[in-house]
Amino acid sequence: MITASLESARTVLSEVFGYDSFRGEQEAVVEHVVAGGDAVVLMPTGGGKSLCYQIPSIVRPGTGVVVSPLIALMADQVAALENLGVRAAYLNSTLTLDRVHEVERQFLDGELDVLYMAPERLVLPRTLDLLGRGSIALFAIDEAHCVSQWGHDFRSDYLGLHVLADRFPGVPRIALTATATRATHAELTERLSLQDARHFVASFDRPNIEYRIVPKDGPRAQLIDFITTEHPGHCGIVYCLSRRGVDQLAEALNARGIAALPYHAGLPQEVRAGNQARFLREDGLVMVATIAFGMGIDKPDVRFVAHVDLPRSVEGYYQETGRAGRDGLPSTAWMAYGLGDVVSQRRLIESGEGDEAFKRRSMSHLDAMLALCETVDCRRVQLLSYFGEDSGPCGNCDTCKNPPATWDATVEVQKLLSALIRLDRERDQRFGSGQVIDVLRGKAGDRSRASRHEELSVWGVGADLSEAQWRTVIRQALARSLVVSHGDYGVLVPGPAGGPVLRGEERVFLREDPAAKKAGRSRRGGPQGRAAAPIELEPADAALFEQLRSWRAEQAKEQGVPAYVVFNDATLYGVVEAKPASIGELGGISGVGQKKLDRYGEAVLGIVSGAGTSDAEAPDREPG
Ligand code: ADP
Ligand code: ZN
Repeated sequence: MITASLESARTVLSEVFGYDSFRGEQEAVVEHVVAGGDAVVLMPTGGGKSLCYQIPSIVRPGTGVVVSPLIALMADQVAALENLGVRAAYLNSTLTLDRVHEVERQFLDGELDVLYMAPERLVLPRTLDLLGRGSIALFAIDEAHCVSQWGHDFRSDYLGLHVLADRFPGVPRIALTATATRATHAELTERLSLQDARHFVASFDRPNIEYRIVPKDGPRAQLIDFITTEHPGHCGIVYCLSRRGVDQLAEALNARGIAALPYHAGLPQEVRAGNQARFLREDGLVMVATIAFGMGIDKPDVRFVAHVDLPRSVEGYYQETGRAGRDGLPSTAWMAYGLGDVVSQRRLIESGEGDEAFKRRSMSHLDAMLALCETVDCRRVQLLSYFGEDSGPCGNCDTCKNPPATWDATVEVQKLLSALIRLDRERDQRFGSGQVIDVLRGKAGDRSRASRHEELSVWGVGADLSEAQWRTVIRQALARSLVVSHGDYGVLVPGPAGGPVLRGEERVFLREDPAAKKAGRSRRGGPQGRAAAPIELEPADAALFEQLRSWRAEQAKEQGVPAYVVFNDATLYGVVEAKPASIGELGGISGVGQKKLDRYGEAVLGIVSGAGTSDAEAPDREPG
């Protein structure tokens, strides 16, 4: 049976948001909250959490109060709702006193559907008093994992939010997060007093994201090649560990005609804010950033997320890559990873702050990340199982598309382990990977000659492998704890898993690194520096997509809002595909609600019909 409240929720979905159906758990959440229930919602980034509280805010009497830690993004969130014809506002420290009073009056007079504010503001006695005098549809606690003291985004102000349960017992509360671990889930439930809430846990799969991890081989050139052949003119995020790395990489991309901006905690606040605003507003920019960038960025058309350094944990990697493709269109999570990453990450953990337990935890996070990098099975299966979800091979990751060959490396690993043992025993020396490879390959460098390694029995026993091949052996041996690296110089010693291999009790099969595919990848064409549609389009359709995109850019500029607030890429793509000839047809496209139809309908139809005629008359469409 369809309840009246579900009926009105569906009407809002189609008329206001322009979508024909709810996704996954959305409908169940919306129905539950509209009916006055509390909810805890775990959905991946891009899963569609916003609708879960926005629609009940509109359907229920009173204002939906949304708690969000991200003051810098509130203005855009409100602009997006206003563009849909939803009455929205925010209260934060950037407003003038006059504006604050105006918003407060609107709230008290019942003129707002949605009101955003930061937690520190909400818990002020003055704000609680204000809220007590108005009518509240619900409280939505976004980024609810921020209440977790052990998590990576802890905000002490979130701890005060449990007062809502006591102060507003009749008002439904909905907590939402994209952090999936069981520990976070339990902790936020308790700290926000949501023990009696219904829990909605969506699948964390992001099927439109292709996962790809390549062996590092000149990461800067690899990245540039990846962007220019697969994502020319697309918006993307590149994550680097160090500030210096960010600055240098952003410069290198710009020098190659890829418009890129840096973002890290070492930049002055106004530069960071300016770069973030440009990234959100302009089409086709690449943000090169440390992990300081990204939380709450809900730009839907990020087409790729690249990592040029190994992330510290699978959780972090999944959060970061999840920022690609919120609009559901094909997107790529690309990473270059190499031996140096393993050595430097271990060194960082060893020399870092924190007690032994913390270091052990960090090491196990790193090991899980390495296992993902070195797997010969589907990457998605491995990722999802990390979050407790079973799945089958996905067909949309590198190992599914090009199953890696494996080879029996037992003898090579034995040679490596023996070399480490002999160097240690007979020479009392421990070396980093470079010198160990020199010994194995019998390459007499200055330093090794001085210590007369030629006399070692292991000297030159690995001459049949190239230096690059040895590096991949060592990298994978590190990932499997066959060897371990220590200290500032990353000296190698036999690891806990090495014994059985050395004694011949276990065989080792390693991944064969595919030769870096440099050519034949330009699936999506498009000259360098020009934008290309996220999906392969016929030339005429690609031209129409470009026209719509530049029209959208003008609109966004006029209004001072991000382009996706006008229409997102998925909607533009829908227009290109459907080529609507009437307002009615345009209104049927996903993402075109009533308000946008009224406001932009004629302009879009004009562009579509214009493209149609010039297209038909274009001489280059004639065969021959
Ligand atoms: P989250 O907050 O979970 O990361 P969002 O709420 O930002 O995700 O939604 C991601 C994208 O999906 C947005 O562009 C949104 O407009 C779109 N979206 C959400 N729900 C639907 C739906 N039912 N049908 C079509 N598009 C949707
Ligand atoms: Zn797969």
